[in-house]
Amino acid sequence: MNYRHAFHAGNHADVLKHAAMLALCDALVAKPTPLFALDTHAGRGMYWLDAAQAKRTGEAAGGIDAIDRLQPGTEPAPLRMYVDAISACRQVHGPMAYPGSPWLLAHALRVQDRIACCELQPEEAEALKASIGGDARVAVHARDGYSAMHALLPPRLGNERFGRGLVLIDPPFEAQLEEFTTALRALRDALERWPQGTYALWYPIKQRRALQRTYRSMATMPAKSVLLVELLVRPDDSPLRMNGSGLMLLNAPWQFDARMRELLPVLADLLGEGTGASWRVEWLKAPA
Ligand code: SAM
Repeated sequence: MNYRHAFHAGNHADVLKHAAMLALCDALVAKPTPLFALDTHAGRGMYWLDAAQAKRTGEAAGGIDAIDRLQPGTEPAPLRMYVDAISACRQVHGPMAYPGSPWLLAHALRVQDRIACCELQPEEAEALKASIGGDARVAVHARDGYSAMHALLPPRLGNERFGRGLVLIDPPFEAQLEEFTTALRALRDALERWPQGTYALWYPIKQRRALQRTYRSMATMPAKSVLLVELLVRPDDSPLRMNGSGLMLLNAPWQFDARMRELLPVLADLLGEGTGASWRVEWLKAPA
């Protein structure tokens, strides 16, 4: 396993994933009952955009750096939430910091909520413990995130079961399309044991036509609803580059699709390269 997120932190895929994740958290915290969040592929929790790895790829230039140039006051609410979260992180960690999903979950959730983060790479897991382990709401597990879905769901707080919550699955896709087989299998298993959970699976897009079979499998997931949110920053005509990315959302909160329809055109405008950017927010299975 060679993947290190430090090379990619703050790129267009992180912007989409993190802005959508914060909008999910915002919808879920509308009710006071405790939430459980599971981040199956958590990474190291905090990144620095002036570190050698980030500078080598320069990927943040097409992501968070472009968002930083936004004129304040013109952005839709989901983008404002994301910008505010990055700014809160930078007030503590300095202007070159970029937060990972565990930090953002801890930022967005409340004192009564619990967060479990899994990271398989030992050094990344150690870094994650150092960056967030002091937060009593957060448990860091140096283990495989898919087996943790089986072990930790349905989530419990003492003798109580959590009614609601979020599972974020953000694998590095080193196994390419095979990763979908593993992720969708883990999701089917998780839905059987925690059907009311909200689930978000992130995926890279090189050429959308290579995903047609995967879309058909996604549409059969045994959830109340299946929503796709995708952002392409350039045409998907090259099989060699990550031209965009998407999130498959199972049991998305009410009106989450409408919030994404506000967010995505603005992201396509800010992050798109030339005229080739596009986006879609589409139900593969609409809620009944
Ligand atoms: N979710 C993070 C964020 O948004 O800040 C980024 C995660 S990065 C895309 C994927 C991470 O998953 C890497 O740190 C990698 O070491 C880790 N990883 C790879 N396979 C894993 C597995 N089976 N279980 C848990 N973590 C894994």
